[in-house]
Amino acid sequence: MDLVSLSQQSNPNNYPSSIVGSNAAISSTTSISSSGVATPTSSTSITQAPPQPTTPSRYENQKRRDWNTFCQYLRNHRPPLSLSMCSGAHVLEFLRYLDQFGKTKVHNQTCPFFGLPNPPAPCPCPLRQAWGSLDALIGRLRAAYEEHGGRPEGNPFGARAVRIYLREVRDFQAKARGVSYEKKRKRPKQKVSSAQQPPSAPPPAAVLAEAAAASE
Ligand SMILES: [Zn+2]
Repeated sequence: MDLVSLSQQSNPNNYPSSIVGSNAAISSTTSISSSGVATPTSSTSITQAPPQPTTPSRYENQKRRDWNTFCQYLRNHRPPLSLSMCSGAHVLEFLRYLDQFGKTKVHNQTCPFFGLPNPPAPCPCPLRQAWGSLDALIGRLRAAYEEHGGRPEGNPFGARAVRIYLREVRDFQAKARGVSYEKKRKRPKQKVSSAQQPPSAPPPAAVLAEAAAASE
């Protein structure tokens, strides 16, 4: 949704300060999107991202925030869940949980606006986390997991189920929202064809490069 992505982009420092309880997810997802990474309709305009879109400290701060949010989620989980018990299935649970705080309109297939990038009227379809936000989030959490002593081979954020889920979210949101998540190219306008995009293509923004590299 254009309004959402615009407001997010124009308000990059709107970080909620408290990370408490269920608000944790709100602050996390808000700042995830506001990192300018993943606003879905920006797939075409994302080329404006500078070569070094974020300072290392900003990325690190975001990563720490995300990690705290996830740890908070684990603490609140019923039944209780420790990091060492955490699997890809739990990561998926976490991602679906975050969807309730999403701001991206994703049309149902039955919606008349399914596939329209700029729907002419409101519709009751749900707001979700944009694929790019989730993808970037997973990249940061995957890195954070290993920085906190997790073994790469047991990294739940790198689980196959998570990769598949993200791919499905991307494909469905691209269709539902009538946008392309084609990765950024230097060349002038290239024919947009989803066929030429490998399923594991990295997300467009440079800031996501790390996430993409980590997720393959
Ligand atoms: Zn709709």
